Amino acid sequence: MWLKVIFIGIILVFIYRLVGGKIPFIDKPEAPKEGEHDFGKIEATSECATCGTYITEADAIIYQKKSYCSNDCLEKSK
Ligand SMILES: [Zn+2]
Repeated sequence: MWLKVIFIGIILVFIYRLVGGKIPFIDKPEAPKEGEHDFGKIEATSECATCGTYITEADAIIYQKKSYCSNDCLEKSK
């Protein structure tokens, strides 16, 4: 009798896992994939809203949620 209950329980867990269920104390949290950090931190780049030049976030002039490569482009957009 108990064997049946355990057996059904195992099947239920198996089905649960099959549909993507996670059991925290069995499934370890997914480790970050190796290789993703090979390049280190790449500076985020954005495109100048006027001339389309790619600039780093550090160099960009942000104005009204748009980024510009220089004051000239910023002035042109106004
Ligand atoms: Zn520009």
